[in-house]
Amino acid sequence: MKFGGTSVQGAGEFARVAEIVSSEKENSPVVVTSAMAKVTDALLNAFEAAKKGEVAAAFESLQPHFERHTKVSEKLTGGAGRESFQTELDYAREELNDLLVRASRRSLPLAMLKDAVVSYGEQLSSRLLAEVLKAKNLNAHHADARRLIVTDDEYGSAQPIWDETERLIQLELQPLLNNGEIPVLGGFIAASRGGETTVLGRGGSDYSAALIGAALKAREIQIWTDVTGVLTCDPRICPEARTLKTLSYEEAAELAYFGAKVLHPKTIQPAVDRQISVRVCNSHQPNERGTMILPQAQTTRRKVKSIAYKKGITILHITSARMLGAYGFMSAIFQIFERHRTVIDVVTTSEVSVSLTLDNTDALEAVVRDLQRIGTVEIEPDQAVVCVVGSGLRDTSGVASQIFAAISDINVSLISHGASSVNMTFVVREAVVGEVIKRLHTEFFTN
Ligand code: ADP
Ligand code: ASP
Ligand code: MG
Repeated sequence: MKFGGTSVQGAGEFARVAEIVSSEKENSPVVVTSAMAKVTDALLNAFEAAKKGEVAAAFESLQPHFERHTKVSEKLTGGAGRESFQTELDYAREELNDLLVRASRRSLPLAMLKDAVVSYGEQLSSRLLAEVLKAKNLNAHHADARRLIVTDDEYGSAQPIWDETERLIQLELQPLLNNGEIPVLGGFIAASRGGETTVLGRGGSDYSAALIGAALKAREIQIWTDVTGVLTCDPRICPEARTLKTLSYEEAAELAYFGAKVLHPKTIQPAVDRQISVRVCNSHQPNERGTMILPQAQTTRRKVKSIAYKKGITILHITSARMLGAYGFMSAIFQIFERHRTVIDVVTTSEVSVSLTLDNTDALEAVVRDLQRIGTVEIEPDQAVVCVVGSGLRDTSGVASQIFAAISDINVSLISHGASSVNMTFVVREAVVGEVIKRLHTEFFTN
């Protein structure tokens, strides 16, 4: 059972989580929690300020968040539990202050310090949740996820090393479950083989839950969030979006990858490997069933299931006339991205040119410099990828014309269709993506 930041944002939410966990206590749950809402952002901001030398201000900016934890603890725990959490919080304060000083003085590698700083969100929320559950007479047991999830040392979005992780999770959590205890862990956080704290990337608590679920061969992985399941589109853009009853792994993976924030893109993989179903449900409305993500797609009348989008995309157009008829053009291009560890999302090609999209532009300058040795490079920032998902889209006639007729007055580039049988992807300017999504939602779900 994984609870996202908005499901643990204050005392009311913590109390509700305790009820939800209690209702599953006969089913040997493992609880994974995100940081309290806004805490991860606050820690990241504090880190950036400290880097600029503003250590006192950085530390000060965290005070309200420490207080939010204390408030929950005062409301929902008592006695030894409250004291034990307060001790943890006092340690965390001191340790964070020390890490922020180090960041300002660059006394350890910054990437390493950043993950250490940001990990306190989940370290604190998980300890707090464990105490809250104990206060509700649940047999909760806090476990440090950093002892269970082993990753490489790609700070910021570390990759789990599966075999070791699986073994440690089984070794540590199975005896607790056998003993009738409820393990409570922070999501998102892990550690490298060398024991340094790492994190799994923004939104990574879902991923932690899936890894744990897979290692323990769970019957179900539950992602508890602030909306009722996976919807036909982001409800912040289309308030009339509806809950999907079921979704296939493949459809869910495409949606997650192309921006449906409700699931971390990598969540699905460990579940797919073990054929474990994933349920996305609403901690504010625990009685609604939410969305079941299943190995196979259910056949439905509707071919289009959901529409996702991802902003902040940059397009690169690479053209090289001397590549006409020559082999090795693609390979040369892709090697450059590999060298700079930059992920490409959408690719379209013609004989002498390649257009592709990036969402991480950290290495853009270096990538472009290398690409310019091959051909001319044109950069278009501020773009958005739109992804229409539904199983069988590749084999369904008319969907493409329906999509483009609905937005015929809007300029579309990099259309990609057919590579995956479940999606159709294209790029528009970021400024119009809201309008595009609304029109497509109306076209496929309202009309
Ligand atoms: P959590 O803190 O629980 O991990 P997130 O903010 O990461 O929650 O994800 C939930 C949010 O994802 C929702 O509030 C919603 O605004 C957004 N979202 C985007 N696309 C979708 C979609 N297709 N279905 C459901 N939610 C979506
Ligand atoms: N707290 C982390 C974040 O905000 C991880 C998560 O919530 O899943 O990205
Ligand atoms: Mg999330």
